[in-house]
Amino acid sequence: MSHTAELIAVGTELLLGNIANTNAQTISQALSALGINVFWHTVVGDNPQRLREALDIARRRADILITTGGLGPTYDDLTKQTICAAFDQPLVLHPDILEEIRVFYESALHVPMPENNAQQAMLPQGCTVFDNPVGTAPGCAFSCNGVHVLMLPGPPHEMETMLRRCAVPYLRCLSQEVIVSRDIMTFGMGESSVDQLLHETMSHMENPTLATYAKPCEVRLRATAKAADTAQAEAMLSPVVEQVHAALGDIVYGVDVENLESVCLSLLKERHLTLATAESCTGGLVAQRITALPGASAVFRGGVVSYWTEIKAAVLGVPQEILDQYGAVSEQTARAMAQGARRITGADLAVSVTGVAGPDPDERGTPVGIVYIGLDTPTGTFCRKMDSGRRRRDRIRGLAANHAFDVLRRYLTGLPVEGIL
Ligand code: ATP
Repeated sequence: MSHTAELIAVGTELLLGNIANTNAQTISQALSALGINVFWHTVVGDNPQRLREALDIARRRADILITTGGLGPTYDDLTKQTICAAFDQPLVLHPDILEEIRVFYESALHVPMPENNAQQAMLPQGCTVFDNPVGTAPGCAFSCNGVHVLMLPGPPHEMETMLRRCAVPYLRCLSQEVIVSRDIMTFGMGESSVDQLLHETMSHMENPTLATYAKPCEVRLRATAKAADTAQAEAMLSPVVEQVHAALGDIVYGVDVENLESVCLSLLKERHLTLATAESCTGGLVAQRITALPGASAVFRGGVVSYWTEIKAAVLGVPQEILDQYGAVSEQTARAMAQGARRITGADLAVSVTGVAGPDPDERGTPVGIVYIGLDTPTGTFCRKMDSGRRRRDRIRGLAANHAFDVLRRYLTGLPVEGIL
């Protein structure tokens, strides 16, 4: 039987626009991976009547209600009381939870527990308690007349921990079926082109399903199968992954991988190669993204943010004639920047980025969105020209960093890296 969940975020701050409802996004992603439908997200302020109305509506159109927020000890934290009243569940004191909260205060925060925190140990009778190892407010779940109600805390790090450790396993038990997904990651083609190539395949699929999720120049395809067990679901997914691979070719950069930089990191590690960067318009973004990954120190030697032309010449040794003749944003400069970074760091490979992120063209009239990505290697120097058109500055920079990783990934897997994308 398929389930439908409704998310109810409780908090006046959300309605005022002070904070974004990121919890809804996180929970929806988890529910989608579990194959649970989500047709409604509701946001309601810290107001018991309106929360009650939201609950009454939600229970008519969903069989799983998940609330976030309002579990704290303050006067406006009314979620539990209101839900228990709506579902006719008595709230009872859980002495073991009270003890845990007291210990948390005394041993982690080194202060006595404020008395109003005792309220957090009041939970619906007979509920499944969700521990909160990173905060004090426990969550819980109960079922009443075929509706499952899950209450999670508001602070995102507490909510995410509880979701992963308690709520997802609880929800998984509601279904007889297992849901398995494969994420097929692509770079270099827009969503509509990917859609065109796969339209025929996708439109006839029911189980497994195939859906696209797009970012600029990057498309994630998620194949999802429902089956009696994992092995069966995986067997159903293999031909879909192969079909997508065959249709899209080498723009597929990985299956069930995080992002382009994590693929590059693994490839560099496997091949025992080191990397350096020389960045202009990305201002260190390529270096930042690779060093955000654990284990980067095994491959990343260092990088230069050579924003001024003088630094390109003085630090990276880009010849002045190249800068004078072709300008800082040029194929020749990108190549010389990569060569310089490789030379001064002693890395096996160096990638460089120079371009116009906007909002204005450079002094030579190079249009916004033109970026050159250089790659220097023991077998030669390569360059790709990217023309993203007039996008926002942060989008151009992000895209340029993606291209830098794509150039690297293609070189490391023996694919052609150059050309205009
Ligand atoms: P606490 O014990 O901290 O009071 P709580 O469960 O009562 O937790 P709230 O008081 O409703 O939660 O929210 C605490 C904080 O969590 C908010 O100030 C906000 O920063 C964050 N928060 C709450 N709801 C959301 C949400 N839906 N998305 C993102 N952040 C949220």
